[in-house]
Amino acid sequence: MSKKYCVVGGGIAGLLSAIQLAKAGQKVYLVDKEKDMGGLLRSQMINGISFDYGTHIIAKSHIPEIDELMFDMIQEPEWESLHHLKNGNYFKKLNSTSPFVDTHCLEKNDYDKAIDELKNLKANDGSKIFENLEEQLLFTFGKVLTEKIYQPICQKFFNKPLNELAVNSYLLLGPGRLLAFTADETRELKKEKHLDNALAFHSFLEGIKTHSNFYPSEVGIGLWVNKLLEKIKNCDVTVLNGVQLTNLNLKDKKIASFTINGNQTIECDEVIWTIASPPVFALTGLKTPPPLPGFKFEKVNTSIHHFKSLSKPLTDLHYITCFDPDVLSFRITLYDNLQPNVSEKNNYYRTTVEVLSHGTTDLQTIERKVMNELVTMKIFSRLEDLEVLHSEVMPAGFPLPTKVLKQQEQLQLSCLQEQIENLHFVGRGQGNAFFMNAVLIDTFQKIDGLLKCQ
Ligand SMILES: Cc1cc2nc3c(=O)[nH]c(=O)nc-3n(C[C@H](O)[C@H](O)[C@H](O)COP(=O)(O)OP(=O)(O)OC[C@H]3O[C@@H](n4cnc5c(N)ncnc54)[C@H](O)[C@@H]3O)c2cc1C
Repeated sequence: MSKKYCVVGGGIAGLLSAIQLAKAGQKVYLVDKEKDMGGLLRSQMINGISFDYGTHIIAKSHIPEIDELMFDMIQEPEWESLHHLKNGNYFKKLNSTSPFVDTHCLEKNDYDKAIDELKNLKANDGSKIFENLEEQLLFTFGKVLTEKIYQPICQKFFNKPLNELAVNSYLLLGPGRLLAFTADETRELKKEKHLDNALAFHSFLEGIKTHSNFYPSEVGIGLWVNKLLEKIKNCDVTVLNGVQLTNLNLKDKKIASFTINGNQTIECDEVIWTIASPPVFALTGLKTPPPLPGFKFEKVNTSIHHFKSLSKPLTDLHYITCFDPDVLSFRITLYDNLQPNVSEKNNYYRTTVEVLSHGTTDLQTIERKVMNELVTMKIFSRLEDLEVLHSEVMPAGFPLPTKVLKQQEQLQLSCLQEQIENLHFVGRGQGNAFFMNAVLIDTFQKIDGLLKCQ
């Protein structure tokens, strides 16, 4: 029997939910507060030049059902198929062959101690439950690497002591493993599961599935959103974009209808919630659980800066994550390395820098600093060739993953799940999935489960 679904949030999780439900014959309303759908996957035209809202290079999920729903329109020549992603990192110096921090940059004494500690690390048989990030890092990498590598990186991004941060929060920004030993020794050591979790291959050519990454050959990543929206409209989904959800109307522990813009009420049987849970309390009138001791919602100031350069980048990397605490930049996307055909036609090169900051929020100050960094990190050769085209604050920002925030989120989630039977949290809404493919997989599995129970 067909049901009416209200899907809240038109980012990748909402788009997949809508397509999956509609293809299964359900009536779907897709609601987004913004006129432009796609969430973080937006592209922006600035002075006629296309930029994205951060680094978003698509990777197939390798789950056939998801790939068919979401990636069937991705074909050459409209899309570049990338043999492998060239993602480098900056920590004391630019590493152009790996996204992982190279521990060889440590002082010799520290490096030798770190290596000894790594060799003596124990495997976790599952009985070790970590209380916070510090415990997890000490167990996974040892004392020296925790203090000399992760502590400064987490200080840069989160500005909090490691023991206040949630387990796994270091994975949100990328430095999941480290480079140590030689490439050959690493291959041997990685045969042990616990060392496999700590050590990275020395080159991004090892341990990857080739040809599973894609980027449009001419325009920005917004192309994917446009294609998904076409698909959604062809499946008869009602897209309600640029609207305010003003009420979720409860009846017998179920959301019976939702109201938009305060004046239009639409009946529904199930609600798929892809965004954070707090707005549900205000929209239903349910009481928010009291804050846990020490809880304060905090986010990292996140801004995005688009540049044009008259000279070519000095690297062929697709993007670079800057872990170095002395550098303000967080992630640098080099579009013309992804789209060689475009740069051949233009006489300029496009770059986006995302910044996570705790100090100044003045965009001009950040722009100046970032431009200098692009030259000192040897990504561009000449400051005078760089021009800022646009800077803006990302209002949703980056969540500050403290231990108490995760606990508060879980408390709110279970409180809502107890009181509302037909509200389903998927993707980032349920708090665990974060990266695009994790969001897609979580969403697909939850929707699949719902459809099977119907
Ligand atoms: C700064 C930043 C950078 C990231 N970079 C990457 C990356 O490089 N690679 C990667 O894999 N992941 C990245 N992520 C993780 C990101 O979570 C996923 O990539 C994915 O895009 C998230 O999709 P989503 O649908 O969950 O959320 P979003 O893309 O955030 O979409 C949420 C949608 O919900 C809408 N919305 C919000 N509130 C309401 C409301 N009250 N009513 C109606 N609509 C609402 C928004 O307008 C938006 O369209 C990044 C996250 C952040 C914060």
